[in-house]
Amino acid sequence: MNMVTGKVALVTGGSRGIGSAIVEKLVNNGAQVAFTYLSSPEKAEDLVKRLNSDSNKIKGYQSDASSHQQSKELIENVIKDFGRIDILVNNAGITKDNLIMRMTEDQWDQLMNINLKSAFNLTKFAVAQMMRQRTGSIINISSVVGVFGNAGQSNYAASKAGMIGFTKSIAKEVASRNIRCNAIAPGFIETEMTHVLDEKTKENFLKNIPLGRLAQGSEVADLVCFLGSENSSYITGQVISICGGLNI
Ligand code: NAP
Repeated sequence: MNMVTGKVALVTGGSRGIGSAIVEKLVNNGAQVAFTYLSSPEKAEDLVKRLNSDSNKIKGYQSDASSHQQSKELIENVIKDFGRIDILVNNAGITKDNLIMRMTEDQWDQLMNINLKSAFNLTKFAVAQMMRQRTGSIINISSVVGVFGNAGQSNYAASKAGMIGFTKSIAKEVASRNIRCNAIAPGFIETEMTHVLDEKTKENFLKNIPLGRLAQGSEVADLVCFLGSENSSYITGQVISICGGLNI
C-alpha cells in the first residue's frame, strides 16, 4: 500500500531511532523524504545508502533543529531540492533527566530548545510553503510523559506538553488553508533513548503496559504514514497515543 505516493516529507532527527523508522516507512510508502541529523553523519549516510534505490527519493541534511536560522535555511534547501513540502514530522528530541532540585538551567534550556523551540522553528517556515500549496500535514512527536508527567523528567514532560498545546493552536490557525496538525504521544519505544534506562525501571514500566512489551519505531512510523496521507484528511488538532494501553 503506497499511502503517501507523490508526497514530499521532511523528518527532523531521521538518523536514528523512531526518526529513521519514519524515514524508511515514508520512502517505502512512496514519498520523497528529506531528513535531518545533527551528530550522526555516518548513520545518516548509511540510511540514504540503504534506501536509495532511486536517487531523487531521499536526502539527509545536517541541521540543528533548535536553531531558528538553520531551520530557515533547511526549509529553503528542501524546497530547492524537492519543490514542495507536504508532510513535516517534528521528531528531533532529547532527554536531560534530573530531579527538579538538581536540574540545572542549562539542562532546562537545552532541552526546551531542542524539543519545543525546534517545532516552532520548523513549523513556522514550512507552513509558509504549505499555505502556498493549500495542503499539508504537520505531525509533532510528543510523548505520553507530556500527558501524564514523570518524576525526574519535568523538563521533558513540559516540552512534550508544550508540543500538545502548540499542535492544537496550529491546527486552529491553519485549518482554513487545508493544513492539518496532529501530535503523536508514544509510550515506550525501543531506541537508544530507552536503552539507557536500567532493567528495574524497564520492568516497572512493563508492569503498566497492558500489551506487555515495548514498541518498535516502525509501529510509530505506521501512524505517521496514516496522518501524512489523505486517509486521515478529516483528522486535525488531535493527540494520538501509541503506548500499548499504558496508564501511568
Ligand atoms: P533517539 O534514538 O535518541 O534519536 C534522536 C534523534 O534526534 C536522532 O536522530 C538525533 O540526531 C536527533 N536530534 C537530536 N538533537 C537534534 C537537533 N538539535 N537537531 C536535529 N536533530 C537532533 O530518540 P528516539 O527515541 O528515536 O526519539 C525520537 C522522538 O520521539 C523524540 O522527540 C522523543 O522525545 C520521542 N519519544 C520517544 C520515546 C521512546 O520511548 N523512545 C517515547 C516518546 C517520545 P543525531 O544522532 O544525528 O544527533
